[in-house]
Parts: sequence; C-alpha cells; structure tokens
Amino acid sequence: MNIIIFGPPGAGKGTQSKFIVNKYNLHQLSTGDLLREEIKNKTELGSKISSIINSGELVSDTIVTNLIEKFISNNDYKNKIIFDGYPRNLTQAKTLRELLSQYSQKIDLVLKLSVSLDTIKKRISERRSLENRVDDNEETAIKRYKTYERSTEPVIEY
Ligand code: ADP
Repeated sequence: MNIIIFGPPGAGKGTQSKFIVNKYNLHQLSTGDLLREEIKNKTELGSKISSIINSGELVSDTIVTNLIEKFISNNDYKNKIIFDGYPRNLTQAKTLRELLSQYSQKIDLVLKLSVSLDTIKKRISERRSLENRVDDNEETAIKRYKTYERSTEPVIEY
C-alpha cells in the first residue's frame, strides 16, 4: 500500500506518518526530513537549499525528484511508502505519477489533515523549542502556510 499524506505545515503529517508506518509496516518518505539531513551534514546540496527552506519557499522540483526516485526505485520499499510532504505542487504530482508507473506502482490512499492557521501558529511555536527547526518561527510558518494554500492545495483536486 502506498499512501500520500497532505496537510499544512504543523498539521502533524510527520507524527501521524510514524503511527501508520509502525502499524502497517511502511516506510516514511519525508522530503522535509531528507532535506534537513543534507543541511545538517553540510553537503553541497545542503548549502544550496538552506536559505530557501528558511524562507518558507519550496526547493526546486529537480532536487526533490532525485530524492524520491531513490525511494521509489528501491525494491525494498516497493508498495510500502508513505509520502510525507511530497507532492507539493502540480509538477511534482505529475512527476510522481510517471515515476510510479515506471516502477509499476500506484497510490492506494490519500489522507488530508486540516488544521486552522491559529492552531498551526501555536503548534509551530511549541515545536520550535522541541525540535529547534530554523523555519519554525511565526513569520516563516505563515509563509509556509501560504505556500501550501497556493501550491499544494491544487494538487488535491488533481
Ligand atoms: P512542513 O510541512 O512543516 O512545512 P516539511 O518538513 O514537510 O515541513 O518541509 C519543510 C520545508 O522543506 C518546506 O517548507 C520546503 O522548503 C522544503 N520541502 C519539503 N518537501 C518539499 C517538496 N516536496 N518540494 C519542495 N520543497 C520541499
């Protein structure tokens, strides 16, 4: 079973994904986690993307496509992926469709978490002290929420 989990920043995609992963023996593919890992490890890619992530914008489609193709092409993960934070715009959704078909897979379920902006602001300020994410300040959180509304919401219809 392959699942996509949608939701604005701070909706709890990562938290719920972990519950689902444990219960159904799936693998979580969080593009945000993978990107943060690159920044933490000070890789060349990490240095390119850190200012974009800190500003609340999306990193380029090519970069995330490379990350997800590694997962989709890995036979150990075949039909066992929960996509957390991907696709985030229409181009990514179309790429995902092509990649899945190339590796003879499909999406079985799409989950959408809905949370108001007020709740998100509260959660993100709490998370900042727990996880120390540089993009978890109020200004960037609002920016990320707007990016979600503008670029990601239309993917749900698609
Ligand atoms: P959140 O849902 O709280 O915004 P994520 O960890 O999913 O957190 O994403 C953090 C940041 O990483 C995003 O604001 C964006 O800059 C980048 N990012 C994550 N996934 C993608 C993606 N699929 N496409 C482009 N950028 C992404």
